[in-house]
Amino acid sequence: MQTGLADFIRGTPEGDAADRVLRKCVHCGFCNATCPTYQLLGDELDGPRGRIYLMKQMLEGEIAAETVLPHLDRCLTCRNCESTCPSGVRYHELVDIGRAVAERRARRPLAERARRWVVREGLSRPGLFNAALTLGRLARPLLPAGVAAKIAPEKEARAWPPVRHARRMLVLAGCVQPALMPDVNAAAARVLDLVGISLIEIAGAGCCGALRFHLNDQDGGRRDMRALIDAWWPAIERGDVEAIVMTASGCGSTVREYGDLLAGDREYAGRAARVSALTRDLSEVLAGERAQIEGLFAAQGVRRRPLSYHPPCSLQHGQQVRGHAESLLRAAGFDLQPVADSHLCCGSAGSYSLLQPVIAQTLRDNRLAALEAEAADGIASANVGCIAHLQSGTDKPVRHWIEWLDEALRNGG
Ligand code: SF4
Ligand code: SF4
Repeated sequence: MQTGLADFIRGTPEGDAADRVLRKCVHCGFCNATCPTYQLLGDELDGPRGRIYLMKQMLEGEIAAETVLPHLDRCLTCRNCESTCPSGVRYHELVDIGRAVAERRARRPLAERARRWVVREGLSRPGLFNAALTLGRLARPLLPAGVAAKIAPEKEARAWPPVRHARRMLVLAGCVQPALMPDVNAAAARVLDLVGISLIEIAGAGCCGALRFHLNDQDGGRRDMRALIDAWWPAIERGDVEAIVMTASGCGSTVREYGDLLAGDREYAGRAARVSALTRDLSEVLAGERAQIEGLFAAQGVRRRPLSYHPPCSLQHGQQVRGHAESLLRAAGFDLQPVADSHLCCGSAGSYSLLQPVIAQTLRDNRLAALEAEAADGIASANVGCIAHLQSGTDKPVRHWIEWLDEALRNGG
């Protein structure tokens, strides 16, 4: 696509990056076919091709940011369009820039700004989130059913094995996962311990920055990224760890991009690139130990309950990691059911389900209809946000796939 960027952005790093992405788009519209918001709303401007064109016009100074912002707000950043695009358009890079520019140039109504601030600060600070969740659990009986369904009941973390292996990896604690699903990292540590890897969670390694970054507080998001790098760096520098394991694919997708997101930061660029290079999704790490995993389950020889698996967008489109969790669950004897349109988003999308509840709930119900269609007893996924969002719409248990695997190992059947 030919571009003619306006003076306010031409020649800046943002403008140059946007220009590179825009020039790759041939405006064919193939991406619309797999865009969840285009499928749902049927509006060209709520599909990737339309959003790309809106951002182009805004960056060329032809339309106001106020016109563009609502369409960018409705984008899930699921990156399904990137998986479909034959031209390799890096849509997420453009939408990050488009959102930052639109946020600077448009004025949101006060109530909307306040709502976004509460969501951003409340979710990205583990202490604040924990306190709010505790209060919400106490007030649950008084809340409307739709809100109450979003408040997960309290769960316990089981034992974390001692660090005893020469092979060691870091794991991200994250911001909301410790309060919502405290046993996910512990389950990962137990399973990895059985295959000879010790998992280490470093105190103070909290939010990866994705929440703030994707709510258009990009400076705040980069501050969180630097803080996380600082927390991890001593262990990385000493050569104590061979990888950084992600149990929440939404965080993994962002940490894998630290190298790009901090490329302009002279002080942190090198360390950010190193952190990205070390980052692996848990399913990739365990797929590398598949023979041992199969050995652990072979002795049991049990055929387990039928499960459905929802691959998060941040895993299948963001990180382009596919198939590992499913094959590990099958190796553990689970009867994985076929799920229609498993490339589609469940509507969670970080804080999206709180800010765009109508679209998010429709997408969730559509996904649940597909996930429950084949009489599965439960649902597995790989990201805390997707798990909590799906669980709010079904009575069937929705859990991280490592929790299903860990339970199968503990129970032996
Ligand atoms: S992003 Fe890709 S698929 Fe979509 S219109 Fe552009 S070139 Fe076509
Ligand atoms: S990121 Fe997802 S919602 Fe946004 S334009 Fe692409 S496919 Fe559509």
